[in-house]
Amino acid sequence: MVIMTMTSPRAFLPVLERIAEEIERTPGRGRPADYIPALAACDPRSFGMAVAELDGTVYGVGEWRQPFSTQSVTKVFTLALDLAREGDELWEHVGREPSGNPFNSLVQLEYEQGIPRNPFINAGALVVTDRLQTRTGDAAGELLAFLRAESGNSSLDFDQEVAASETQHGDRNAALAHFMASYGNIDNDVPVLLDQYFRQCSVRASCADLALATTFLARHGIRADGTRLLTRSQAKQVNAVMLTCGTYDAAGDFAYRVGLPGKSGVGGGIIAVVPGRCAICVWSPGLDERGNSVAGVAALDRFTTLTGLSVF
Ligand code: GLU
Repeated sequence: MVIMTMTSPRAFLPVLERIAEEIERTPGRGRPADYIPALAACDPRSFGMAVAELDGTVYGVGEWRQPFSTQSVTKVFTLALDLAREGDELWEHVGREPSGNPFNSLVQLEYEQGIPRNPFINAGALVVTDRLQTRTGDAAGELLAFLRAESGNSSLDFDQEVAASETQHGDRNAALAHFMASYGNIDNDVPVLLDQYFRQCSVRASCADLALATTFLARHGIRADGTRLLTRSQAKQVNAVMLTCGTYDAAGDFAYRVGLPGKSGVGGGIIAVVPGRCAICVWSPGLDERGNSVAGVAALDRFTTLTGLSVF
């Protein structure tokens, strides 16, 4: 059933309101991530959802203006920022196939000579951040500047407590980085890279901020100020990798249920793109066993079902 009005400037608001009511009535919401202690205290019943349209109109329901820990959602933006600078050479250092393994797994790396499967597992994101660091001297700073510019929110910032907590519990990411360095696939000193990566993951932003920051992918590569970040073809590439690899090893199920390019993070956020139409961000910190927000996936599933919008 399609219940939106295409002529309204807030065409999807009735859909969002209906989804929020449905989610409110749903009992099970999963569990917040506990391997990063600073995230464990989140209330799994928190829920917010925002839509940003191509012209920068943004609106939402629930806690759509509440900042949360973006975590792996930022991997999309660092990928875009690096791809914009180095183009196809990036793909010699990171693949673009689903991994079929947990996001922080080491096992495939040895078989595949230190080339991670895709930019959205931790190993791949570390490679992307390393390459952005080499090109900019401050990968996390580039990311933050980009998010502030696209969202129009200059108060966005790193969360020092979350970054410190990840550094303290960062043995696995350190192992991934050192292992890839042994294959020559990391340029920077590992402690420098890890500091950049953990700060990148720690950025706090709301559904409104992230929906706006994702809109360049719905605009086929065009930023909020009208300048081009990615070629149309590169924007397609990023959207395609989100669809196939963006939701941990549940990307097949996400494509089946939602049918949009999406990227989730263990903070409970998920961004999604309707190419040529809008960007969406949903947040609810209770996760399923694969690491995706339970209410977030359910809400996006309902969004594409109610609107009939998907890439299929
Ligand atoms: N900072 C987290 C980590 O590296 C990100 C995980 C995620 O959101 O997938 O473990």
